[in-house]
Amino acid sequence: MRIAICPGSFDPVTIGHVDIFERASTMFDELIISVFVNPGKDRAMFSMEQRVAMIEKATKHIPNVKVTCFSGLLSDFCLQNKANFIVRGLRAFSDFENEFQRALLLKKINPNLETVFMMTNAQYSCISSSGVRELVYFNGKLDGLIPKCIEKDIAAYIEAGKK
Ligand code: ADP
Repeated sequence: MRIAICPGSFDPVTIGHVDIFERASTMFDELIISVFVNPGKDRAMFSMEQRVAMIEKATKHIPNVKVTCFSGLLSDFCLQNKANFIVRGLRAFSDFENEFQRALLLKKINPNLETVFMMTNAQYSCISSSGVRELVYFNGKLDGLIPKCIEKDIAAYIEAGKK
């Protein structure tokens, strides 16, 4: 059984992420999407539970996907889930440097782990969670950036956070 992990902050999930999930799901028997704490990104906009709930909604149509969260080492999570593959998306050359280092470090920790890179869909290359967070912060429109089915949830989470 080929099990792959798709790790990320997903704060929040975008249509660029969902495109990667859809494409990666056809390559593996099971795709586990996991929200991770990224120590390099200091402040999250949405809680881990909110991020998981939004991804679950946005991936309902993909049968071999499981969504969860983990605060620990990715290599430990892979071992626990018997996964030998990690899927990461690449949008631009600027993503490459960081992703390359991560993949090499993971390989050093566990030589059985293969990182698979998937090129972004050209129409989504400019979409990032940080861009979405900026728009949310300044009440900008999120059309065509996040899955339609989570638009209301985002608005509700932001409203609840103000109270
Ligand atoms: P992280 O904090 O781990 O970088 P992100 O949620 O920002 O988490 O991204 C998760 C993965 O999705 C990364 O591999 C990132 O390069 C990829 N990704 C983000 N946005 C897009 C997009 N628009 N198209 C393709 N891949 C993307």
